[in-house]
Amino acid sequence: MKNISILGSSGSIGTQALDFIAKTKNEFKVCGLSVNSNTDILKKQIIKFKPLMVSVFSKDDAENLQKWCNNKKIKTKVFFGKEGLNKIATIKNVNMVLSSVVGSIGLEPLLAAIDSGKDVAIANKEALVMAGNLIMKRAKEKGVSVLPVDSEHSAIFQCIGKENKKSIKRILLTASGGPFYKSNKNFADITVEDALAHPTWKMGKKITIDSATLMNKGLEAIEASVLFDIPIDKIDILIHPQSVVHSMVEFNDGCVMAQLSNPDMTLPIQYALSYPERKNCYIKRLDLTEVAKLEFFKPDFKKFKCLQIAYKCAKTGGTMTAVMSAANEIAVKFFLEGKIKFNMIPLIVENVIKKHKVIKSNNISKYIEADLWTRQTAYSVIKKLI
Ligand code: MG
Repeated sequence: MKNISILGSSGSIGTQALDFIAKTKNEFKVCGLSVNSNTDILKKQIIKFKPLMVSVFSKDDAENLQKWCNNKKIKTKVFFGKEGLNKIATIKNVNMVLSSVVGSIGLEPLLAAIDSGKDVAIANKEALVMAGNLIMKRAKEKGVSVLPVDSEHSAIFQCIGKENKKSIKRILLTASGGPFYKSNKNFADITVEDALAHPTWKMGKKITIDSATLMNKGLEAIEASVLFDIPIDKIDILIHPQSVVHSMVEFNDGCVMAQLSNPDMTLPIQYALSYPERKNCYIKRLDLTEVAKLEFFKPDFKKFKCLQIAYKCAKTGGTMTAVMSAANEIAVKFFLEGKIKFNMIPLIVENVIKKHKVIKSNNISKYIEADLWTRQTAYSVIKKLI
């Protein structure tokens, strides 16, 4: 039996992971859960999974939730804040931590989990973009497994299998293209509603906006580069509107391996949680005669500036990708709040990275400082732009 903690259990990945766990029998024990503020969902999860401890962001929410548990005679202990998140990540006897929080807040608990010897399943791509090399180095030192949850990275992981890394010629990272790949709409006129209508995947809001700007693919190229230790210029993006081929790996001899399945996050989530085993999965089976055609196109780096920015920052390295990711987080937040136009997202990111002096360091605090610097700088950049 695997003892598991889930950081970000009320989100899209967290709830799907728990759905999978509920379907298995005696294979997982849920020991810890954390949410930001969605205590309604957390309460249902507490009743169903009886975790040892949970964590929420605010102290008030924690106190109310603890009272609720006590009244219901549930023994779950409630914690809060960053410390709470770290507690959930380091519970004794837990073997695996699934990190599905959104944003750079996930970095510290992820490192805490690795430091306490736990295998980690990572859906929190921002942490990998922020300080992926340090995460991978730490995991290697501790001898823990890092399992990708992102569908493309799960695909790459499966395609690489036991092959020697030196045999890899390049990675072909697929992208649906998002809602605006074929659209002629002026980017300044795109509404929040337009941008949230993703053609093939149902996901959280932040990642859906990132998919519309293609920043998501930029983040994923960086994520692939750190997870598989492949230089960024060996990672090519392919627009693939059907979202059936989840990514491919080309080897030195010209062989290309691909992983195919219907677009459903259940598969990469359960693969990461049950690795190295393959369990039955209840998603719709792939019928290629039904799909009929698989198309692939080159991405438009001019139209989707975020993609250009991401590759540039990845080449610079050091703290630059952390800054890019945090600036994007703020820009997306402002767009979702209706305060800026869609076309301003790359503009804000570009203006913030221009101001940043890159630091290359093995000290995690430099990356956290860069993240904090970005958040302050992004606000002043936005003020000037609007
Ligand atoms: Mg993905």
